[in-house]
Order: sequence, then structure tokens, then C-alpha cells
Amino acid sequence: MSQRVFQSVPDTYALRCIPEALAREQGWLAYRCHQRTRTVHVLTATPPGAILRQTALRLLHGQYPGWAMAWQVCADKDALIKAIQYAYRSSYDVDEISKQYACSEASTPIRLEEDQRPVAVWLDALLNDAVHRRASDIHIMLVEQVITVYLRVDGCSSLRTQLPVQFWQALVARIKNMAKLDVTEHRLPQDGRFDAIIRAQEQPIRVAVLPQGESEKITLRLLASVDDIPNWKDLIVLPDQRRQLVRAVAAKQGVIVVAGSTGSGKTTTAYRCFLSWLNQGLQLISLEDPIEVTLPGVCQSAVNSALGYGFAEGLRAALRHDPDGLMVGEVRDQETCSLLVRAALTGHPVIASVHAQDAVSVFHRLIGLGATLDDLKATISLIVTQRLAKKTCCCVSAKGAALECEFCGGTGYYERVAVMQLFKPDAKFYNSLSDWSTEQIRLQLQDKKTLTALLNQRVIDASEHHRLSEKYGGKDAEVSNQGG
Ligand SMILES: [Zn+2]
Repeated sequence: MSQRVFQSVPDTYALRCIPEALAREQGWLAYRCHQRTRTVHVLTATPPGAILRQTALRLLHGQYPGWAMAWQVCADKDALIKAIQYAYRSSYDVDEISKQYACSEASTPIRLEEDQRPVAVWLDALLNDAVHRRASDIHIMLVEQVITVYLRVDGCSSLRTQLPVQFWQALVARIKNMAKLDVTEHRLPQDGRFDAIIRAQEQPIRVAVLPQGESEKITLRLLASVDDIPNWKDLIVLPDQRRQLVRAVAAKQGVIVVAGSTGSGKTTTAYRCFLSWLNQGLQLISLEDPIEVTLPGVCQSAVNSALGYGFAEGLRAALRHDPDGLMVGEVRDQETCSLLVRAALTGHPVIASVHAQDAVSVFHRLIGLGATLDDLKATISLIVTQRLAKKTCCCVSAKGAALECEFCGGTGYYERVAVMQLFKPDAKFYNSLSDWSTEQIRLQLQDKKTLTALLNQRVIDASEHHRLSEKYGGKDAEVSNQGG
């Protein structure tokens, strides 16, 4: 476990609970704040005595009153000391650097052959900043001749910082170089990736460049690592649902369909399911477009339609390897759909993602792609549909959110939670499919219990409950099969 901790970046919310001097002196690394259990996890080389524990707890309560501290002994003392050094190394301040550069007198563009260090330093600071703010994406573009940076955190994008336009060429060149893209190409979209080093840890970043008017827009996606995939408890709040999905995955039978729209978190759920097979030492193959998270021990194959290597070609090839389990990134064409059915019928368990908003739409989608009812009856073991809701921050009380809250800054929301519906189609359901209208079936399947349970447990608030129940029940449900 502690090895895994070193592979992820300690979060700044945890880090600030213990001052650097004490952390170095005692060999303590506060690396993770866990909102659900209101616990800060601390690594230590030797278990602290009662007095030191008291001291640490007092410091913790200075930041987060009422929280608990979970101590974890780490055998690798050298690695721990190194991790502490990196964690507290004076953090780069992107605001400070942006301000300095904005005041610099240079008004002519920085030429590519000139010193690129200023841009490199700024980009480094920006990447560090983005990781610490838990951003999923960084958007960089020219807005009215100013380099403008937006960060997307928990699905919401907001302005982060700006930089004078004279740095533009050098910045674009720097990013393109790192991602091994063509620096001279400005009129075509380009995709690439690189690994940034943030606090001595590798952070994989996917780069997408899109021509925008006379310039370009750059999007950097901070890819998650396998350690960022939540465990079952964090992924699924409601114990009944958790048990049902864990049981279905463990049965390794047929197809588990994970459905949702873009940005619904379905990929994370699919990864979680798939990973639990890996723990059993099976031969696993995944087909993805593109690979979002590198899973050690899994054969991950990125499909590439431009090369004629689509999901169908990948699936056909994968089946020749007779894998113990498959993950299909998206079922979106007839051939993939029929191969999927064949894979399941020949005893290969599959986790498949389908772009559909609810269970009924999953059936419509698969039937639309040529699957027969008998196919579905014989293969589908469970359908998981999901959306993301804004999770209520731990600071929210009867009086509302705390304005000075470190986590949410007074918005009352921190991180997101998957609102899932699990549906196991039975004989009665298949019989009713032919007699009932889509709307009747949808009404039958409607599950408002999940939302209500999440509201009652104060995982989501009334406004999120309202927003999602409208979407589930209302006409929005019709807007399904769009986009990837
Ligand atoms: Zn808060």
C-alpha cells in the first residue's frame, strides 16, 4: 500500500495539517484527506507515541476540527523521507510568475530560438497548480490577444491565469515539442502526449491542439493513474448497489454494460469493474479509444479508426487470444455489437460501455445495432447507468456552507459522486418489451430511490437532487444517442 502512496501526489489539503519542520523531524507525511470519513491519512516510519499523537491531532484540528487521523506505518524509511522532501518543496506559484511576466518590458514576441526557460518555468508551475487543484483539463487559448488559461475541476471550467501574448509562440512550441508534435503545423488538429514530472511523480498528460482562427487552442488532459481509480466504497455510496455490482462482476458471466453520456464517469466505473478481475490474475484485454488510464498487467489496445483498426477489428483479434476477460471502450457499430454477443456466448466475460442515458436506451441502442432480444437475454448480466452529481462538502451544516472552507471555498460542493442505477433484466422484463411502449418501460424502470437515498444521507443536496430527478424522469431522457 505505501508503495502505491508514493506513486500519487500528496494532496495539499492533507499536507498543510502538519508543518514541514515537524514532518521532517518525525518522518510524517500527511498524504490524503478523506472527506467521507473525515480522516487524514498519515504515513510514518515509526508509530508515534501518545504525546506525539496528541500533538498531531491538535494540529489537525487547527485545520479541520473534529477530524480523525489514520496512521500508517511505512517500512521504506528512505522512500518516505524522499517523499516528504518533495512534498514540501516550495510550491511553484503560477500567479506570481504570471504577474512577473506581465510586468516584464519585452513587448516583441519571444522567438523560438531564444531562451525558452521562462515559458518552461511557467508551464511547470501551471501543471503543478492544476494537479493540486484536482483539475482534469487545462485549456489554453488566446482571448483578445491574451494567453488565457482555464482549469476544469469537478466538471466546471473557470479562468485560472493569463499571460501576455508575446509568450504564445514559445509556449505552443514548448508544448508541441514535449508531446512530439509538428511545431511548424498550425492549420491541422494534432494529438499527442507526454509525461510531466510533478513532485517527483510522473503525470501523464494528453495534448490536443485545434486550429482556432489565426491561432490554436491547446487542451491538456491530466490523465488519472491506476491509483486514482476509486475503491468500491468510494465509487458506490449505497451498500446495496455496491454489493449487487461487486457480485455481478465476481460472477464473470456475460456482459456488464456500463452506460451514461459523455462525462458521466462511466469509464471510471468500467475500469473499477475490470480491475477487480485483474486482482485474480486473469489474462485481460481492453480495447479503448483512447487509453485513459494505464493498467499494469492488462493488455490495453488503443483502437485507431484512421488506420482501419476499429473496435470490431480489435475485438475479433482479441478473441483469438482467448482472454479471461474483455473490456470494450465503446459499442457503437453493428459488427462490434455482434462480436460482443459472440464473445459472451463463448464464455468470455465482458465489461462494455454504451453511450446511452438509461437502461431502456441501452436496449434500444443494442437492438438498433442488430442484436436480437434472444442475444441480449442470453448475454446481458447487468446494466449500470450513471450520472455525476456534485457532492456536498463536509463543511455544509444546517446553516449552509462555511465561507472559509478550504475544500469548497464556500460553494458547498467538493468532488463528485456517481448516481447509479443498476438493472438486472429478467424474463418479465423481456416479455414486457414487446407489449409496452418505450415510455411505459421507462416508467417501470425509473428508480428515484437512489437519488432520495443520496439526499437522505446528505451526499447530495436538495438542488442536485432536484436537477437530477428532473433529468431522469423528464423529457431529457430522450436526448440519448449523441456523441461519444
Ligand atoms: Zn466546504
